[in-house]
Amino acid sequence: MNVDDTIVAISSPPGAAPRGIVRLTGRKSFLIVDGLFEADWPDAADSGPGPRHRAGSIAVGPSRLPAAIYQFYAPRSYTRQDVVEIHLLGAPGVLAMVVEACLAGGARRAEPGEFTARAYLAGTMDLTQVHGVAGMIAAGSDLQLQAAERLLHGGLSRAATVAREDLADLLSLIEGALDFADEPIEFIQPAELRTRLAKTLAALASTRAAGLRAERWGRLPHVLLAGPPNVGKSSLLNRLSGMDRAICAPLAGTTRDVLSAPVCLGDMDCMLVDVAGLAAAQGDVEAKSQAAAKRAMAQADLLLQVVDAADADGMGHGSAVAHFDVPVIVVVNKIDRINQERRMELVERIAAATAAPVCSTSALCGEGCEQLKALIQRQFQDRSANIDDQAIALMAEHSEALHDAIGALRRAIALAEGCADTLNDADLVAIDLHAAADALGTLVGREQTEDLLGRIFARFCVGK
Ligand code: GDP
Repeated sequence: MNVDDTIVAISSPPGAAPRGIVRLTGRKSFLIVDGLFEADWPDAADSGPGPRHRAGSIAVGPSRLPAAIYQFYAPRSYTRQDVVEIHLLGAPGVLAMVVEACLAGGARRAEPGEFTARAYLAGTMDLTQVHGVAGMIAAGSDLQLQAAERLLHGGLSRAATVAREDLADLLSLIEGALDFADEPIEFIQPAELRTRLAKTLAALASTRAAGLRAERWGRLPHVLLAGPPNVGKSSLLNRLSGMDRAICAPLAGTTRDVLSAPVCLGDMDCMLVDVAGLAAAQGDVEAKSQAAAKRAMAQADLLLQVVDAADADGMGHGSAVAHFDVPVIVVVNKIDRINQERRMELVERIAAATAAPVCSTSALCGEGCEQLKALIQRQFQDRSANIDDQAIALMAEHSEALHDAIGALRRAIALAEGCADTLNDADLVAIDLHAAADALGTLVGREQTEDLLGRIFARFCVGK
């Protein structure tokens, strides 16, 4: 990424507003704006180290419009380079013309996030904090804003650093035991290792569980129809959205693309998503279709596990979706195909076998569909009522890194589980702890392997 040229972009939100902002950063920022701006008053004497503010007018096509400019001098600016903000009438056409004039003056159109990228490259923030800025921009509620602020102010980096330090301590003991395998020294008892690992794991798991998935902000919550082919997923999409969005047919494999339609749930909306039923892929198109279905599942906020009422015995609830840790509602569809008595018995039996709420519907006649919408709405309301007030905003890669670290710690605990006095497989445990520390390293935003090694060596210069 080139950081030596001068970039320009509209930095106020899209749409018309009383005021809008065009922002430039880079060496030529002041020069470019000087060519367009005419101050109301001659330049005052240098007013000190802070930003300089001037009122006047700016050339917009053939006319001049009132404007104010704010100049931030390098390195006391967001990007650590010269920055100028032009504040003027927030009409999209006007702002676009000012950007064009800056381009003609020698600036380049900024890429998405490029101002923040320059701030990061100048060392003013780590990667996690960069995500915090993105989260604050996308936040749609007070709770989301606070969660993004916690990310911006290093909440996640701190949690990761504490866990990494615990792991570094344990690694120094385990690797010490490996180095001095012939000596009768007991560096750490398996029981103590298990207890300490379990504590670290619990801390990471609770950070992840309480985290708010910030990459999902700014879009409607996604409700995904999951289940085998032919159970009525596409019919439910059409019925619940009130649109003929999907083709329904008694032929398995009719849906291949990811289809979606907005559904109104009273005072909130959601996006209902239909994908190909999960099945073994035969051929290239189906493989692509299955991959798209799995991607959509990973992004879902709620899964509707649809089963066919007339064929619900072998439903294997949850097997296909269990590893996506998203709440599930079981939808027993096609209840028009069985009599009243069997319906009650079936719903009760499924409800007893699962922790998820169960709802019965007929996409064909519409029965139960309003109740299903109410249940979906209640799930989202319950979830927002239960948000931890210390939750941190998490981007997809943060959740993934925490997931990887938790997985590695679980493996290490399992290895230590079978050991009584001596830790067998200490080398394998060490590999898992390194894997967990590496995953957490990505959350800290800078590579710490050096200091991890430093700590190990500092502690084990025993007599050598
Ligand atoms: P999908 O493969 O899971 O998306 O299933 P479809 O929505 O394409 O439906 C498969 C077949 O079942 C079609 O022939 C639908 O008309 C039929 N179907 C869907 N929902 C119902 C329902 O509630 N009752 C009955 N009797 N048939 C249904």
